[in-house]
Amino acid sequence: MTENLQSCCLANWKMEMELDPAKDDLPLMANTRHMLVKHYVLDLDVDFKSQVIEGTIVLFFEPGSRCKKGGSAGEGACLSQSDETCKIRASEPCHSPVTNVSARSSKTGYNDFAVCAKGEKDTSDKNGNHSNGEQASGISSSKNCCDIENHGSEDFLLVLDCCDLSVLKVEEVDVAAVPGIEKFTRSAKLTDAEELRNLRNQIVHELVTLPADRWREQLYYYTRCSQAPGCGELLFSTGTWSLMIRKAEVQAPRDFPHAIRIWYKTKPEGRSVTWTTDQSSRPCVYTMGSPINNRALFPCQEPPVAMSTWQTTVRTASCFVVLMSGENSAEPAQLQEGLLSWYYYVTMPMPASTFTIAIGCWTEVKQESHTADVRTNNEFSSLFSRADLRLIEGSCGHVAYPCRFQNPAASSQLVIPHRVFAPWCLKDRCAEILLELIPQCLSAAHATLGTHPFSRLDVLIVPSNFSSLGMASPHIIFLSQSVLTGGSHLCGTRLCHEIAHAWFGLAIGARDWTEEWISEGFATYLEDVFWAVAQQLPHDEAREQQELKALLRWRRLRDEVQNSEEELQVLRPNKENTGEVSESGTCIIKHGLNAEKIFMQVHYLKGYFLLQSLAKRIGEATYFEFLRKFVQKFHGQLILSQDFLYMLLEDIPEQKGYGLSVENIIRAWLDTSGIPKPLLEECQTWDQCRLVRQVNDEVTKWIQVNQRARKRSKRKRRQDEVAFQKLLPDQLVLLLESLLEEKTLCLRTLQCLEKTYHLDEQDSEVRHRWCELVVKHKYTTRYADIEKFLKEDQAMGVYLYGELMVNEDAKQQELAYKCFAATQKQMDVSSAKVVAEMLF
Ligand SMILES: [Zn+2]
Repeated sequence: MTENLQSCCLANWKMEMELDPAKDDLPLMANTRHMLVKHYVLDLDVDFKSQVIEGTIVLFFEPGSRCKKGGSAGEGACLSQSDETCKIRASEPCHSPVTNVSARSSKTGYNDFAVCAKGEKDTSDKNGNHSNGEQASGISSSKNCCDIENHGSEDFLLVLDCCDLSVLKVEEVDVAAVPGIEKFTRSAKLTDAEELRNLRNQIVHELVTLPADRWREQLYYYTRCSQAPGCGELLFSTGTWSLMIRKAEVQAPRDFPHAIRIWYKTKPEGRSVTWTTDQSSRPCVYTMGSPINNRALFPCQEPPVAMSTWQTTVRTASCFVVLMSGENSAEPAQLQEGLLSWYYYVTMPMPASTFTIAIGCWTEVKQESHTADVRTNNEFSSLFSRADLRLIEGSCGHVAYPCRFQNPAASSQLVIPHRVFAPWCLKDRCAEILLELIPQCLSAAHATLGTHPFSRLDVLIVPSNFSSLGMASPHIIFLSQSVLTGGSHLCGTRLCHEIAHAWFGLAIGARDWTEEWISEGFATYLEDVFWAVAQQLPHDEAREQQELKALLRWRRLRDEVQNSEEELQVLRPNKENTGEVSESGTCIIKHGLNAEKIFMQVHYLKGYFLLQSLAKRIGEATYFEFLRKFVQKFHGQLILSQDFLYMLLEDIPEQKGYGLSVENIIRAWLDTSGIPKPLLEECQTWDQCRLVRQVNDEVTKWIQVNQRARKRSKRKRRQDEVAFQKLLPDQLVLLLESLLEEKTLCLRTLQCLEKTYHLDEQDSEVRHRWCELVVKHKYTTRYADIEKFLKEDQAMGVYLYGELMVNEDAKQQELAYKCFAATQKQMDVSSAKVVAEMLF
């Protein structure tokens, strides 16, 4: 076993050495199969002046699945707690992903190894303000890899994912020193050092395995243990992607300290959080859904198998509101004049990547009068069959936690408690558009899928540099200000999309991050379903709207497939190796850092079309009944594509006869680039839908208007009155896209178009197409619309920059440079990179 461990450690850092920083793959370095984090306690100070978050994190571990053969202490733990990890094809040969990476052996410069030998320095004061930061960041001693072996090749190396952090100190926590902790120890007699070490690990084991109904007690002792004194510094070093920790002469994970404390600081340029100003020009900081997730916010185990709980205390100036992934809606406590402390926790284990924080001078938006239309239970009860209600009583498949699916009161809760936060200047618009949509969308989601996996929800309007329209995390949804324009359509659909992620993406996660279609495909598919229920649309109308949406998405997919790298169009890039990790638990996320990929929607779209096609085949009623069963079975767990497909086809056996098989679906939809063949057959039908035909009629009218206007422009005559139909926002999008295909539209047509539909007041999807028309036809008087769009709708503006550059028109390029100069500094890093490539 030692041999294995050692080779894993070597492989691990070989991975660091060989990764080409210019390549777009994202490594997950943590050796989760040796040690698995169960709980994080974060204790942080947030300073806006220096743009630094500083504090400690205490990690509580269990030995991972690979230590099963090990000795007595961790044995039970491995068997009971690490089932999750064992499922990952433990029996199959592990191909180390290192072999997939082009070998670049001489790349030594960026793995600065700075082991702080124990006892070498002892300048730490009692408050833990240790100042060996220069060592941690590798300035003082820069040794190469051989040092690992020199320092004792037999030692076990704990590897955490970590990037852009200054690690100041790492130490073992003396959990045995916590008063009252004796009850967690079976034998309280301590004689020698070895036994004391075992005792500490035994305490942590008892603590992390407490039954779910003792979660309060567990949280209490996590807090107490996190505050316990240290009992010995640990050796550590940082690499580009990781923090490596060892304890001299400890060779097996079961003997490695199970509770460790890390003192660290974030860096202002770290890529996990964005320091910026909100729309009211006040400072704020938030996690922006970076491809590197949270590893520049705290050292963690990133691989999704490391599902853990967390609790976080944040101290910051009293003008700020701290929002976070926490199941309690925290009330701040005043520590001293001008300083508040906020405390959040979760009891449902989730991947560390889902942790989200947003701190700013947010204002809570409240309803003026309580007239919110919250539906009653009866209204939606018809959507639930009796069988579903019985299912609720069944037990869950995940590790034990206080699960809402087992709680009848939680299961029947249509709308969970929710709050809305926004910068001051957007307060009124939120009250007008967003506030009443939330209960409608939440109850629509409940009507479709049942129990809300999370107990509460905060919705925050994030700063204008947020790079997408929305992001879902446990207990908190970020929405872009772009959804607050136009009517409620865009806001409602986006909200539905993010709410759907509570089930697909959060409660049910992708075991292999490259299979992001599982969360995005489902959320895109369910967004239509939820939105139709939320609007209380009759069945036919809902179907019509969904067909229109399908056509729009089909057009987008077709464009994207034509204009992107084939490799990026595959939904399951790891094919049959999907979900595999190395012996130590590391893996590489292909194209995880690809800037272009961030702007692609192929995973959303192909995933959506697959789910839609299955629904059509199976019939909606049966399909939704199945989805509810699927959620019931897999919530709280991680899945691969095949988990979904196998269960679906098992559940509906008669469909197999129609040629549906897991293998066929995988081949046609998941493992190939381009448009899936079955979709090519389906796409014909959407053209015939009523809402699309209506748009086509209007397009014809506009083309006629344009022809007449061109003739008339020579001899001025009064304009004929043409009666245009009122169109839905999605219809407007299709209309403008169709008109974009026209070679020439004269000025008068554009003017008339704008006036007819009040285009400058429409939602950002519509305005985006309008801006494209303005660019295409060099409609200079409306360039202000483009400027406004590029500043206020940054999540959608990237493509427009390209359009401005492609015409090689001096005025348009000038406009692009001007807008980029004005927004570049606060723009999201990936977006800025892509735009810069277009412009320079
Ligand atoms: Zn459950």
